[in-house]
Amino acid sequence: MTVRVRFAPSPTGFLHVGNARTALITWLFARSKGGHFLLRIDDTDLERSKTEFEEDIESSLVWLGVSWDEKTRQRDRLKRYSECIEKLKAEGRLYACYETAEELSLKRKVQLSGGKPPIYDRAALKLTPAEKKAYEDEGRLPHWRFKLEHTPIEWNDLIRGEVKFNGADMSDPVLIREDGSPLYHLCSVIDDIDYDITHVVRGEDHVSNTATHIQMFAALGATPPEFVHLPLISDAEGGKLSKRLGSMSIRDLRENEGLEPMSVVSLLARLGTADPIEPFVDAAPLIKNFDFSKFSRSTPKFDPEEIFRLNAKILHATPFEKINVRLARMGLENLDEEFWNVARANIQKLADIKDWWSVAKGPVNSVINDPAFIEQAAALLPPPPWSAQTWSQWTAAVKEKTGRKGKELFMPLRQALTGMDHGPELAELLLLIGPDKARERLQSHKKAA
Ligand code: GLU
Repeated sequence: MTVRVRFAPSPTGFLHVGNARTALITWLFARSKGGHFLLRIDDTDLERSKTEFEEDIESSLVWLGVSWDEKTRQRDRLKRYSECIEKLKAEGRLYACYETAEELSLKRKVQLSGGKPPIYDRAALKLTPAEKKAYEDEGRLPHWRFKLEHTPIEWNDLIRGEVKFNGADMSDPVLIREDGSPLYHLCSVIDDIDYDITHVVRGEDHVSNTATHIQMFAALGATPPEFVHLPLISDAEGGKLSKRLGSMSIRDLRENEGLEPMSVVSLLARLGTADPIEPFVDAAPLIKNFDFSKFSRSTPKFDPEEIFRLNAKILHATPFEKINVRLARMGLENLDEEFWNVARANIQKLADIKDWWSVAKGPVNSVINDPAFIEQAAALLPPPPWSAQTWSQWTAAVKEKTGRKGKELFMPLRQALTGMDHGPELAELLLLIGPDKARERLQSHKKAA
């Protein structure tokens, strides 16, 4: 059996971390099984669905490296949904209801105050044709509910294990709105059938939906697929993901935070699993070791700081040939492998490399307030070739000769070498500046004079 999965976002907002995690995990599973990954745009809510969001979802997935084999849009399949709707109506599995939202809310309140669960009472099933006509003459349009069978519903979830519901404890779900448009539930089930989906992977907020979907599969003559419900992520304190984090979009991490996609992938792929969270420079090992049995049922904590830590480690491990095109796009086409290999260890984000490059290569306006001291220091500059020890050897010699230490010693050297009061570590920077430029900067006051 070929594994066939889908990621089914609603294009009603930018792709956020929580949904990106579902996409990534579904994709890792598909790739680990040599399976097929369908991107399904759930856009039956025509008012809230926007092309702008669909484009954002796609570009965010591309950025993360999540590639799809096929794409479909629910909006393009309305005819197919109508056929199934007619069949279910003819079989009495869909029934017309005329209650307004206020009437339903009142019913729920009465049930709750009487200590009863707020389950739809199926009053609409008892309406006579004359009563229905009276409602319609009044201008009311029906919405349609799916008649659940009052039987046990069970499945073996690949993360949650045995899950049990009973149709009798659930409200008949509304599948068609008053305006005749079908709701997500029915469309999703029809698509899962038509696209031969073998595993439905989604967040645990859909667990009770799944119970009703299983009866819809049966009503449409199909066998339900396997189900996998991922625990939703929470913030570092274990609370529900706060608004800020919950709405943290991939676009934000990419454009505003300037993060590497693999830092996001490295964290989201392993969060809530038995495997350690480590920096990965490509997804191959994540695919190779992927297994749903490693996922815990408990809520994983998401700490955005972790992405920043992974980001730095990933950059430190990224070879020049994997980054040179991006460096060139940043205007750093002259930045060579030697420079990258020394400087990468000092950056947290790729954009930081610019500071190192400009301060090392110049031009800089050296600040020299005490020429006599700088001349002494210049005379003590070790001869090439330089090594990682050059900075400490040099400053030790200057300290011995001049008796200066601490800030008194380091600040004038930094100002002369970089023209600034702060910046990258001088020990590393000195190597990147190199003997010729270092000497030139330490002597720049002579030229100016
Ligand atoms: N559009 C639904 C959502 O974003 C899809 C859920 C599913 O995977 O079936 O929650």
